[in-house]
Amino acid sequence: MKIGFIGLGNMGGPMAANLARAGHDVTGFDTADVTIDGVARAASAAEAATGAQVVITMLPNGQILRKVAAEVIPAMDKGAVLLDCSTVDVESARAVARQAQDAGLSALDAPVSGGVGGAQAGTLTFMVGGDESGFNIARELFDIMGQKAVHCGPSGNGQAAKICNNMILGATMIVTCEAFALADKLGLDRQAMFDVVSTSSGSSWSMTTYCPAPGIGPQSPADNDYKPGFAAELMLKDLRLAQEAAAAADADTPLGEAAMKLYAEFVEREDGMGRDFSAMLPRFEKRGYS
Ligand code: NAD
Repeated sequence: MKIGFIGLGNMGGPMAANLARAGHDVTGFDTADVTIDGVARAASAAEAATGAQVVITMLPNGQILRKVAAEVIPAMDKGAVLLDCSTVDVESARAVARQAQDAGLSALDAPVSGGVGGAQAGTLTFMVGGDESGFNIARELFDIMGQKAVHCGPSGNGQAAKICNNMILGATMIVTCEAFALADKLGLDRQAMFDVVSTSSGSSWSMTTYCPAPGIGPQSPADNDYKPGFAAELMLKDLRLAQEAAAAADADTPLGEAAMKLYAEFVEREDGMGRDFSAMLPRFEKRGYS
């Protein structure tokens, strides 16, 4: 397949490399000067999109996505697929999809879970919104870049699934860290705490797969001095998107709001910037009841 790939950063770079390695003809563009193995370089986003059957974007936010979409949509052939894998607000995803459909294209919003490790290993999970025909064309690319793609319904629903998932993740990580810090103060051994909770009703991915306590459970960023992994500022971005969506849809999400405020404090006023989102545990360790 001829593929244009725009945004070759921490995630997009390895995703594009995997597509090229699988034999696809990939042309990439990034505003930064990056070279990716097996990926031809274009001088602009429009050039990368010209003649492509699928154009993939992996960009920082919705504002940049809207700008890039305005450049690439006119350059794309009718019937081609615009596949956005960035995490952006639901409104931007739906606006870009409408523009693409008006120009005779298929549009998919397909944000991912799995992080840089998943992008490199080709084990991402894609949450996909948009039309069935576009999903069927993109499926073979999802199979190369990931281990699972779930079609969640019409445009924007992929982003909706992503922010709901990450709102749960942010809140469960915080409460798991709180519980470890409380257990410490109650004299409960961390290994015992893990052994109980990981097989009891308080269990979650934050405990069993990404345990925030160093030396406990499977390898996680806690065992590497809380180097990301999934950076706290990226979690904050996703929690803000969830709150924007909740406000727009008139949904009551008090725990999501509390999680957003805690990550904002951690990233913007404490030492959370550049640390893994599970570094909430050392934060709670230092604090008393107030
Ligand atoms: P990144 O900052 O490493 O990459 C973004 C790339 O886009 C950069 O290389 C940047 O130069 C490029 N770019 C910016 N403006 C551009 C433009 N106008 N035209 C072309 N290129 C442009 O970020 P990332 O970690 O790769 O994340 C990308 C997206 O994936 C984000 O939406 C993020 O929320 C999401 N995401 C990231 C992770 C993660 O663990 N890093 C996990 C899941 C989802």
